[in-house]
Amino acid sequence: MVGFDMASNATKASLPSAKNSANSILNLVQGDPTVFEPYWRDQGDKCTLVISGDDLMSYYSDYGNICWFLQPQLAEAIRNIHRDVGNAVVNGRHIVIGTGSTQLFQAALYALSSPAGPEPVTVVSSAPYYSRYPEEIEFLSSRLYKWGGDANTFDKDGPYIEVVNSPNNPDGGSRHAVVNRRGGRLIHDFAYYWPHYAPITAAADHDIMLFTLSKCTGHAGSRIGWAIVKDIEVAKKMIKFVEFNSLGVCKDSQLRTAKILETISNEFSNLGSTKTGNFFEYGQRLMAERWRKLREVIKRSKVFSLPKYPKEYCNFFGEFMESHPAFAWLQSNGSMDAEILLRTHKMMVKGGKCFGVDPKYARVSVVGREEDFNLFLERLSAII
Ligand code: PMP
Repeated sequence: MVGFDMASNATKASLPSAKNSANSILNLVQGDPTVFEPYWRDQGDKCTLVISGDDLMSYYSDYGNICWFLQPQLAEAIRNIHRDVGNAVVNGRHIVIGTGSTQLFQAALYALSSPAGPEPVTVVSSAPYYSRYPEEIEFLSSRLYKWGGDANTFDKDGPYIEVVNSPNNPDGGSRHAVVNRRGGRLIHDFAYYWPHYAPITAAADHDIMLFTLSKCTGHAGSRIGWAIVKDIEVAKKMIKFVEFNSLGVCKDSQLRTAKILETISNEFSNLGSTKTGNFFEYGQRLMAERWRKLREVIKRSKVFSLPKYPKEYCNFFGEFMESHPAFAWLQSNGSMDAEILLRTHKMMVKGGKCFGVDPKYARVSVVGREEDFNLFLERLSAII
C-alpha cells in the first residue's frame, strides 16, 4: 500500500525508486528526498545510535522547558545548525518540536486562530501554493480557520493568516508576504531554505518559522520538524496542540535527529570532515548537477520550459549562486495539460490545478534516487 496522496493515483505505478522497467510508470509526484542517501551511507557509523530497552521510556523530556517533550540535545543541535548555516535567528526564540512540520503547520493555525472569533479566520498563500495547505486546512472542516485561496487576490477586511513558503514549493521562487493588511498573521514555511536548494541571503527572523528535517538532511522518515517562535504565548498554544494531538514527539526520532544534525555541525568545526566536503557542499553540488542536466534537456525542448532563478549572494557559500529547487516546475508551451502530457509518456507528476494555477504547469520531483532522475531525463528527452 502506497502512503498519503500517492495512494489515490499511484496504485498501479511503481513506488519512486522501485526498479523501473521500460514500461513502468515513473512516480515523480512526491518530493521524497532520497537523493541524499549516498551521502549518509558514506558516513558509516557516525550517525549510528544505540537505544537500549530501558531508554527514553518517559513521556517527558525537559521539565524546565515550556516544550516539555523536546529533548535538550535536539534543541541544542537545532540552534547550532541554524547558527552554522545562518538561515534563521534562534537567539531568544522558542523551539517547538513536531511530528514533521506538517503537524506544526496545524499547530500554528490553531495558535493563530481564535475559538471566540465570529467566523473561521481565512488562510491564504500566493499561488502557486503548496497543495497540502488547502487540503490540511479543509480536512477537518474546522470552526477555527478556512482556506481562502491565492493571497494575491485576497481583499477582505479583518483577521487573516498568510502562509509564506520560501523557497516556494512548487515553483522554487523566493517569497515574501503579499497581503500586508491590518489583522494579518504570518506563518513562514522554510522547509527548503537550506544552502543545497537556494542561496542563504539573510538570517530569517519572523514570528513563526517552520523547518523540517525531511528537506534539510533528507530524513523524511524520522518525521521531525521544528518551529522557531518569537512569542511565548503562541509557542505555548502550539505546544498545547502537539500535546492534544500526539502527546509529544517520538524521542527515538528526536535523538536520531540530534545525532544527524550534530554530524553536520561537526563538519563545520572540522571534527568530522569528509572527503566529500560538508553535507551542504555535497548537496549543493548534487542539486546543481541535476539542474544542469535538466536544463540541457529543456534547452532542446519545444514543448516545455522552466523558470529562471536569479543569482543571489549566498552568505553560507560566500558567492553568487542560483537556486536548485527540489522540484522542477515545468510549463508546457501552448496550452497543453502538462500532467496529461507527461502521463502519456509514463511519468506521474502533479498538475498545476493542485497548486491553484493553470494545468499547463506541472511539478516534478528532482530529489528522488539517481536511477529515477535519469529515467525522468530520458523520458522527457523523448517528448521533445
Ligand atoms: N512544507 C513544505 C513546503 C513541504 O514541501 C513539505 C514536505 N513536502 C512540508 C512542509 C512537510 O514536511 P514534513 O515532512 O516535515 O511534514
